[in-house]
Amino acid sequence: MSERLHGTVALVTGASSGIGAATAVELARHGASVALVARRGDRLNELAETITRSGGTPLVIEADVTDEEAARSAVARTVEELGRLDTVVANAGVMLLGPIVDAPVEEWTRMVDLNVMGLLWTAHAALPHLLAAAETEPRKVADLVLVSSVAGRVARRGSGVYNLTKHGVGAFGESLRQEVTGRHVRVSLVEPGAVITELTGHNRPEIQEQNRGRWEGMERMEAVDIADAIAYVVTRPRRVAVNEILIRPTEQE
Ligand code: NDP
Repeated sequence: MSERLHGTVALVTGASSGIGAATAVELARHGASVALVARRGDRLNELAETITRSGGTPLVIEADVTDEEAARSAVARTVEELGRLDTVVANAGVMLLGPIVDAPVEEWTRMVDLNVMGLLWTAHAALPHLLAAAETEPRKVADLVLVSSVAGRVARRGSGVYNLTKHGVGAFGESLRQEVTGRHVRVSLVEPGAVITELTGHNRPEIQEQNRGRWEGMERMEAVDIADAIAYVVTRPRRVAVNEILIRPTEQE
């Protein structure tokens, strides 16, 4: 186990699967105590057992971060039970694809509620604690990592509202970065390309069918590849802020 994050506390949203779960394990491996936030408690408990077995300190928090109060209380419980908050990975997100014309608009609401509002509630609740942590040992710097996407850089036909949410995350992150970087809170944007996770499985069956061929024959990234990038960001020395990482499978155009 590396000691780089020893004595620090992290909170990861969307920790019950995919990128969030891998990131929680990686941050714990670097010595952080980690609050695991998502809706599926059974999955979080399994992950917590894995982290505990490896010598880490997890805290399971079942919460729906689209609910402002739930997001606030997830942050508050983390600080109450683990003592401080140094690193937040706002990762929970959903990608519902398809044409804009005649789209089932409840899918738009789900994406905006989670990818935008869930991230905002989490960030708003966490920022006072991150600013406080940045003034104190052990690191005297704190991190807010926003998980965006290649879709936050490049819009494509068939992903318009997902593009809207992830472009929004990038704009928000850059504005916030300028606001808090002088106080040693680093705001970083991580923008993955295709990663093998549960993400595409939330789409309607016909959309899943249409997209099935898209990645055929291509070696996609694994969640650990993104966890590794996030760990890199948050383990840099205090003087170094990695503002943005765009990370694609080698074969993805
Ligand atoms: P997964 O579907 O595997 O993970 C999504 C996570 O978000 C789950 O842990 C889920 O847990 C959680 N979540 C969903 N709704 C809520 C909610 N209301 N409150 C709290 N947690 C919630 O997908 P990924 O790991 O792939 O996605 C993680 C992030 O990475 C997303 O922001 C996604 O947009 C981004 N991304 C993914 C890419 C990919 O190719 N996989 C590419 C680019 C970006 P639960 O259901 O238990 O609440």
